[in-house]
Amino acid sequence: MQSLLVANRGEIACRIIRTARRCGLRTIAVYSDVDVNAQHVLQADTAVCIGEAAASSSYLNIERIIAAARDTGADAIHPGYGFLSENPNFVDACEAAGIIFVGPDSQAMRAMGLKDAAKRLMQEAGVPVVPGYHGESQEPALLRSEAQAIGYPVLIKARAGGGGKGMRRVNTAEEFDAALAAAQRESSASFGDSHVLIEKYVAAPRHIEVQVFGDSHGNVVHLFERDCSLQRRHQKVIEEAPAPGMSDAVRSAMTDAAVRAARAIDYRGAGTIEFIVDGSQGLQTDGFWFMEMNTRLQVEHPVTEAITGVDLVEWQLKVAAGEPLPMAQSELQISGHAVEARLYAENPATGFLPAVGTLHRFRPTTTGRVDSGVREGDTVLPYYDPLLAKLISHADDRLAAFGQLAQQLADTVVLGTITNREFLWKLVSHPQVRGGQFDTSFIDTELAALLVSDEQIALLAVAAVELAAPWIGVSGDRSRGVAQRLGAWQLWGAAQRRIRLQTDEGIQTAELQALDADGALRGWQVRFPEMAEFPTGGVTVQPLDKARVSVDGRNGSIHGCRQDDRLCLQWGAVSTEFRVPEAGATAATGPVSDAIVSPMPGRVVAVNCVPGDQVRAGQALIVVEAMKMEQELSCERDGRVETISVRADDQIAQGQELLRLVAEDEGA
Ligand code: ADP
Ligand code: ADP
Ligand code: MG
Repeated sequence: MQSLLVANRGEIACRIIRTARRCGLRTIAVYSDVDVNAQHVLQADTAVCIGEAAASSSYLNIERIIAAARDTGADAIHPGYGFLSENPNFVDACEAAGIIFVGPDSQAMRAMGLKDAAKRLMQEAGVPVVPGYHGESQEPALLRSEAQAIGYPVLIKARAGGGGKGMRRVNTAEEFDAALAAAQRESSASFGDSHVLIEKYVAAPRHIEVQVFGDSHGNVVHLFERDCSLQRRHQKVIEEAPAPGMSDAVRSAMTDAAVRAARAIDYRGAGTIEFIVDGSQGLQTDGFWFMEMNTRLQVEHPVTEAITGVDLVEWQLKVAAGEPLPMAQSELQISGHAVEARLYAENPATGFLPAVGTLHRFRPTTTGRVDSGVREGDTVLPYYDPLLAKLISHADDRLAAFGQLAQQLADTVVLGTITNREFLWKLVSHPQVRGGQFDTSFIDTELAALLVSDEQIALLAVAAVELAAPWIGVSGDRSRGVAQRLGAWQLWGAAQRRIRLQTDEGIQTAELQALDADGALRGWQVRFPEMAEFPTGGVTVQPLDKARVSVDGRNGSIHGCRQDDRLCLQWGAVSTEFRVPEAGATAATGPVSDAIVSPMPGRVVAVNCVPGDQVRAGQALIVVEAMKMEQELSCERDGRVETISVRADDQIAQGQELLRLVAEDEGA
């Protein structure tokens, strides 16, 4: 094997290229036309455009990828994760073209591809599986009675599902029908298959998975476990290895079951056996059940690499070339503790809605490992997964690893798009997370505490001061750091200023009072008199040195940039964006809107009302799909629907008005 085509994009394509180059392979990237300047394209030796932005025309297009491999003389194809990585037809197409597929054979992939069949197979192999209904019939009445027999709460799951999509927890019989319809709809849209299974919802669930590896010589080893219980929307957010509270007895029971599962399908390559674990009584040898097998490299594989010292991509390449596994089970050992955080362009405050935008500043931490697929200046596109980077720390023990990760998150600067950075920072700093006391419901339960609160106030104050800067003769040179410019202030103008700032809540007026000593500006007292949550006495903002600002005595590094009317700021662990309101815009806390406006580009899945309907605030009126996720949109107030401007299947733009209520006074 001398050359490798990577059929993926983003961080995982870059990560695979890194190892392939180290192993002396010529690397070939494929890309869609919007990705022409993407990192994976720039890092590969050769790159081939395979089509348009929509994944179905490019990264999911088997014929074009095979043609690109043929044209460039690729010996092998690595699929990464997502996209075609678990598509057995792609494996067959590679084989037919005489190209090595870096992964299992299509038979093993088919056996594990559908969750229902996989569970039946595992049951036969003596691996414990979650109790539930895995049958063929999809009659709603039958499914409802199966759910009743299993006992609520239950989980409806798409058999073809992945990435937490097509999954609904149902707590009572009344909720069942609506949840079933939603799971089926999401599954058809994402996977082209509406078939579901039903599982008992395990109490205090923890997600613990085992990394396995097989070769074509009959060897199978495991590389221990990862705990991925910190999740939002059934998707992993933080992953660590080893699992907190794991005993030798439970580890050997779980890893034995995982190896048995891999052997049952003569598995070759890297794979993961995912277990759902009852965490209510601590980990028990009889308290874990097979959920599914992922027949590919996993997003969170770096934590396993950190604790074992193995490069899993290198092993994949060796195994694909027909070599035996480089190490025997007895040679594999756990060293220290590793934890990974997934840095996404998304907004935790709006139910983790994916975000887009240009990365005006992107400076990841220089500590620990960073797997990233973007660079400063790149744009986060609405077509693909908005994962920006994975930050990985590795230390002697768990607490040190979490401490290091918190530092890495605080050091990382991202301006220009909304990210989950501060949410992650709060999460890995939370005492219960530090103590290893959590299950998969932790993020949902603790969400309020994990969202930005008082730090946001501090940022508002810094933003006000930053906006006031030009009025008092501060350098307009935006390439200099904010604090640097603040430090250079001279008290020229009036000691008091009023400036206006547009926040999520509307346009706010700030009152600034200069604090001087010996005729030099020492800082500002900032108040937002119209904002209820802002301290009435105001807060003080003082530049400390080139890069740091103190807000009410709390010091943090400050980064900022101004793009047109947008002001992007990061102070310590928090970051946000403000707008400079147009002249003449009225200061107000923003009236309740009469309209539903699309939060991002996407497609309308369903419209649940007609003009004339009386609707309530918060009622799901329109369902849209954006970035492979369904979102329910509702109005901010009760009222009667006047116009609906879209129909199911319409493509919609960000900011487009979708629905309007009869104006308040007319409707009354
Ligand atoms: P893992 O199972 O590897 O721990 P997830 O389940 O959260 O991680 O994410 C992997 C799944 O999410 C993929 O199988 C795919 O459905 C989706 N996914 C993640 N990243 C991408 C991507 N870059 N492109 C397409 N799909 C992706
Ligand atoms: P996907 O293919 O989307 O990754 P999984 O079957 O692996 O689907 O489940 C994803 C997540 O959903 C799990 O990590 C876990 O948090 C939750 N989950 C799945 N099955 C159960 C269950 N039976 N009880 C409780 N939680 C579950
Ligand atoms: Mg899974």
